[in-house]
Amino acid sequence: MKPLSCDGRPPVADLHRAYNRLVAAGWEKVPLAEQRTESGLVFPIDAYASGPMAERVVIGGIHGREPAGAIALARQVDRLIEQGASRPILVMPLLNPWGYHHHQRYGPSGQSVSDSDHQLGRAPEPACPEAAAITAFVLERASLAPGAAVLDLHEDPIYEAPGYQFEGRGSYLYATGLGAARHPLTQRVAAYLQDCPLPLVLTGVTRFGEALDQGMIVDSEDGSIDELLAKRKGCTPVITTELVLTAEQDPPLALRVEVYLGLLDAFLGD
Ligand SMILES: [Zn+2]
Repeated sequence: MKPLSCDGRPPVADLHRAYNRLVAAGWEKVPLAEQRTESGLVFPIDAYASGPMAERVVIGGIHGREPAGAIALARQVDRLIEQGASRPILVMPLLNPWGYHHHQRYGPSGQSVSDSDHQLGRAPEPACPEAAAITAFVLERASLAPGAAVLDLHEDPIYEAPGYQFEGRGSYLYATGLGAARHPLTQRVAAYLQDCPLPLVLTGVTRFGEALDQGMIVDSEDGSIDELLAKRKGCTPVITTELVLTAEQDPPLALRVEVYLGLLDAFLGD
């Protein structure tokens, strides 16, 4: 079924077909939750692990207007299989397929699918069923090595906020966790972004009021799954990358996917 967006993104089913090649290569697939459309279509949300004690975790597709990460992960499958053979990797490539399909930031309940405030002591209940399932998996079932590194691929559709002005074009990142800002992996990711066609925006203020320092926001307390992984699982660095979108197709999706393919190699390489 064709996604409700005109940026050229492939259908959800195409992405799932690509991710399932990981299973054919021996990866374990863990079903986390499902999302249903009004027409009765069911979108599964899955995690894929190349082995226990994952040393690297990659997350994509949390926000539906930020498709580049989920698409890059589908295109990266062959490389993931190679990289997962030498080091255990956990991938959650498309956490909000409903949002991806509908071109909506949140899931069908209007809430962030990986909201972690209930696990961080800031909310009595999970924001939505997906948030309950995804955070429970991360805390209780996912097998992570101590200090596993995390990369969470986002984009920042600033066109969602009319009236907000952002000077730069390009990318920025969040680094969360013990020593995350100076961690060699963070430095490698930042160096890659600095040199890519969507280079780091070194200074400015995001639409969420966070000030950039050398293209980076350190230890954000935003109730995200990234904060949860850093605080409750001791992951570090937890790196969240953002590509600034001034319109649905500006910069073009193909370029953003290319940037994220290179970023995956920077994060998953030796
Ligand atoms: Zn996002």
